[in-house]
Amino acid sequence: MADNRVVQGRMVTPKSLAELIEGESVMDAEAIEDADRECPECAGDVLEVGYMPGVTSFVTGYKCQDCDWSAIEDDD
Ligand SMILES: [Zn+2]
Repeated sequence: MADNRVVQGRMVTPKSLAELIEGESVMDAEAIEDADRECPECAGDVLEVGYMPGVTSFVTGYKCQDCDWSAIEDDD
């Protein structure tokens, strides 16, 4: 699966990456993309994934591939 990426040495799918960022299970997630930014903590590569934490919301999550840094942006 081309959608799978490595984060902190672990293989993640779009959904498992979204759950890593959200801290709990999510309903659905889109394909993982390379974010056009670098990690503020370690300057590492940042991945971005759009996902639905619940039925009525859609957010974009960001996660560093090298450290614990992550962020969530509400698209509304
Ligand atoms: Zn980092």
